[in-house]
Amino acid sequence: MSTRRILALQEAISRKPIELNKINEQVSKYYGSNVFGLDAMREFLSEEAFQSLQQSMNQGTIVERKMADQVAACMKAWAQSKGVTHFTHWFQPLSGATAEKHDGFFEPIEGGRAIERFSGNALVQQEPDASSFPNGGIRNTFEARGYTAWDPTSPAFIWGETLCIPTIFISYTGESLDFKTPLLKSLQALDKAATDVCQYFDKNVTKVIATLGWEQEYFLIDSALYNIRFDLQQTGRTLFGHAAAKGQQLEDHYWGSIPERVAAYMRDFEHEAHLLGIPVRTRHNEVAPAQFECAPVFEETNLAVDHNLLLMDVMEKVAIRHNFRVLMHEKPYAGINGSGKHNNWSLATNTGKNLLSPGKTPKTNLQFLTFFVNTVMAVHEHADLLRSSIASANNDHRLGANEAPPAIMSVFLGQQLSNVLDELEKAVHSGKMSPEEKTALKMNIGRIPDILLDNTDRNRTSPFAFTGNKFEFRAVGSSANCGGPMTVLNAIMAEQLVAFKNEVDALMNKKVEKDEAIFQVLKKYIIASKKIRFEGNGYGDEWKAEAKKRGLSNIPTTPGALEAMISKKTLAMFESQGILSHREQEARYEISLETYTKKIQIESRIIADMVNNQILPAAISYQKNIVDNVMGLKTILSAEEFKKAAEIQLNLIHEISERVNSIKKSADEMREERKKANNLDSAKKQAHVYCDKVKSYFETIRYQVDKLEYIVDDKVWPLPKYREMLYLR
Ligand code: ADP
Ligand code: MG
Repeated sequence: MSTRRILALQEAISRKPIELNKINEQVSKYYGSNVFGLDAMREFLSEEAFQSLQQSMNQGTIVERKMADQVAACMKAWAQSKGVTHFTHWFQPLSGATAEKHDGFFEPIEGGRAIERFSGNALVQQEPDASSFPNGGIRNTFEARGYTAWDPTSPAFIWGETLCIPTIFISYTGESLDFKTPLLKSLQALDKAATDVCQYFDKNVTKVIATLGWEQEYFLIDSALYNIRFDLQQTGRTLFGHAAAKGQQLEDHYWGSIPERVAAYMRDFEHEAHLLGIPVRTRHNEVAPAQFECAPVFEETNLAVDHNLLLMDVMEKVAIRHNFRVLMHEKPYAGINGSGKHNNWSLATNTGKNLLSPGKTPKTNLQFLTFFVNTVMAVHEHADLLRSSIASANNDHRLGANEAPPAIMSVFLGQQLSNVLDELEKAVHSGKMSPEEKTALKMNIGRIPDILLDNTDRNRTSPFAFTGNKFEFRAVGSSANCGGPMTVLNAIMAEQLVAFKNEVDALMNKKVEKDEAIFQVLKKYIIASKKIRFEGNGYGDEWKAEAKKRGLSNIPTTPGALEAMISKKTLAMFESQGILSHREQEARYEISLETYTKKIQIESRIIADMVNNQILPAAISYQKNIVDNVMGLKTILSAEEFKKAAEIQLNLIHEISERVNSIKKSADEMREERKKANNLDSAKKQAHVYCDKVKSYFETIRYQVDKLEYIVDDKVWPLPKYREMLYLR
């Protein structure tokens, strides 16, 4: 009898919503009060330091050391006024999680006393003993130091008793070891390239930022049940579990009424988010039972990425207060939808214009089309790299599983814009255009409505969809750091815009008039990028066949997808934009492979642990009950009566034996494959063997385990079942 499971279920059933009375206030009253933002800066900084910091924040310039001392002292004063005792550099190593090491402000001084101190040096740079963060071979032991350096473009904030300072993380030799450094560089490259292109249309544009609005999907589970599922605890997903009779078939969970306990949790973490200046505004039930989503108002990309990572941490911590655990994994449960994180991306100018929003005049619409077509072209040129940017062991479960965009990259434009591009292609010809033709073309472009029908009528099956005034990169996984995919998107767009400008300038040098030069280059791109455009159903098998015909890649698993990270084209692109050197990018590739292998390795080990320690003993003890019963029957019944009475039970005994044997055999074979894989000499080979050989046992074993769950007495089954985990009261 599994008492652990029964106790956990009793605990989960008895829960009540936990309401916090502190939230009965308008958000505007406390929004951002734990952020060292403009208000705090004005209050605590001298005018000189304020101006200097503002400049660094807006332009990403370095804060002078003298100023840094002042800023640090003021940050400390502000933080202390809120009861803060510690500070940390908060960074994003390539392990995927955020990292922090808290140091106290206090320093012992003579006479056995102590004072609180926070110097400019401590603010600007730290040297964490960081030799165990992934580095892909970049750091030799003799140069094992890493540095964290303050990123003034993302404001410091207070979380718990700690002042957190967003930082980049680089090696002693200057290579980036995190997600933030290349993201910042990609934003700079994009700013420069996009601002240059904007000059064709509007001389007032001096800065372009990329904007990001993410939508975070997640599952909730009662913590009592979570605590006795080792697979969830250690891998984030259930490695076993028979489907619940009612899953998501009735589609009654999506946007349904939010359970009270969950609503209380949402209010609580949103409150924490608002204190931290994270503009979360939307909440709803998602498609699968126990699945939810939250989304903020979009922000500048670097800040949005920091906010997403911080919020994931906040959500996990607040969940524990509510006796929930939050599952950020891309696929916690088989057979129902997994979780993604749509990345809504656009470009905004210092003049307040969204460059991916159609305008009201031919001129602004030509600008819109320029950025629009260049995005399509960039995705066309680097589709495989984009695919690699969202590749992970977790996300492999989603892509192509008819619940998320397929592993084939394509762009959805919507009917209206597809027509516009088709017309543009027809109207522009290589010879010189007459003034009438040009006017007609501009008139045509001017007619692009500023609200597009497709904004509402959107294609949910596309990995990269235009949604009226932004692109939505929908293939990103729910647990991912958006910084990875956003770095790629910004980088390929920057490269593309540089190429575009070169081509237009070359034509203009040959005395082609500006608008006509732009038209000609756009036409060329429209033709060249055609194969990446797809308006149909991305889940259908027809698309797989069609994509193959078009020569688009369809790489279903991570080890294959990662290859694009180190193609000549990718390395050249990152290098030409000054974002990642060959060495840095190759290191990232190695780390991605290793992470993949480790994840599959852990899952494989846990499968074996659970099979040996939990599943097989439960099945065998149930089988023993039946055996006892059968033997009892034999002693009291005649041979004839016994034959009839014991038939079903004998079958059950055999079925259990067969399944137990099969599971044990597969688990042993899997272990052998693992051993072989571990002896291979390259990260690439290992990842492929883990993917093709080791992982192939997961389904075989799971199939048998789930059958056992179905037939074994509920009382002896050790693991909380899907029907218990997925229905929150
Ligand atoms: P949904 O995709 O769920 O229908 P919306 O289209 O309203 O929701 O918005 C989804 C996300 O897109 C939100 O996080 C929103 O802030 C973001 N978003 C809206 N405009 C932009 C923009 N110009 N740049 C980046 N993100 C944006
Ligand atoms: Mg969306």
